[in-house]
Amino acid sequence: MSGLIARIERGLVRRLPLHVAHSKLTRPLASFSFDDFPESAAEAGAALLESRGICGTFYACGSLEGSDYRDLPHFSASSLKALAANGHEIGCHAFDHVPYPAEGPARLRASVAENARYFQDRLGDVRPVSFAYPFGDVNFAIKAAAASLFPIARGVRRGINSKRMDFSELRANPLDKRWEASTDIAALVDTARAANGWLIFFTHDVQKNPTPEGCDPDRLARTLDAVLEAGFEVLPVKSAAARAKFG
Ligand SMILES: [Zn+2]
Repeated sequence: MSGLIARIERGLVRRLPLHVAHSKLTRPLASFSFDDFPESAAEAGAALLESRGICGTFYACGSLEGSDYRDLPHFSASSLKALAANGHEIGCHAFDHVPYPAEGPARLRASVAENARYFQDRLGDVRPVSFAYPFGDVNFAIKAAAASLFPIARGVRRGINSKRMDFSELRANPLDKRWEASTDIAALVDTARAANGWLIFFTHDVQKNPTPEGCDPDRLARTLDAVLEAGFEVLPVKSAAARAKFG
């Protein structure tokens, strides 16, 4: 029983909100984000957004530039620069794509600092203000470290950000293939619209026959069109956070 109570306590502490803000939204809001991201997200994913006049958030790990992480070609320096030049937000996903609760907050701080140097080298005077936890993996120490480094941190706990929002672990919903059957996009859109909520989506590769972590371009296009047709404002996470917090 004490083990069960300890696990419940750990779960509660992990979920303690550290940056609470009350939503000032008067219309529904959506954001589209791409984690670690393969080149297909920077090309096909960004093109689908741009053709609709939308910018997204691309959470980059500097160590993955030009790599074949998980057997996929990842973003190049030129694609990172093109995304930033086209108005997309470049967010921080730490320099190394590892589960930080197992590594500890000191490793996270060092990795975030290394990613900041990487961004400065590639993009000039750009300071990312939004962070996404690699693998969505978070415990209290990592959440506290992220909250001290960034005003905005996005997790992978599903749901809609509304009323009392936790900017240290914003809720987000997967467009990933492996979660397709359990992610009811239409229901999320309806619920967020009714609540004037902020609906964040995330995925990785964007290609036909996507990986389990990726999304088919047609599904991304349908999701973009669903929120636009429902009257959502669609903004990168950083801009959306400002809208939600300040109105
Ligand atoms: Zn990731």
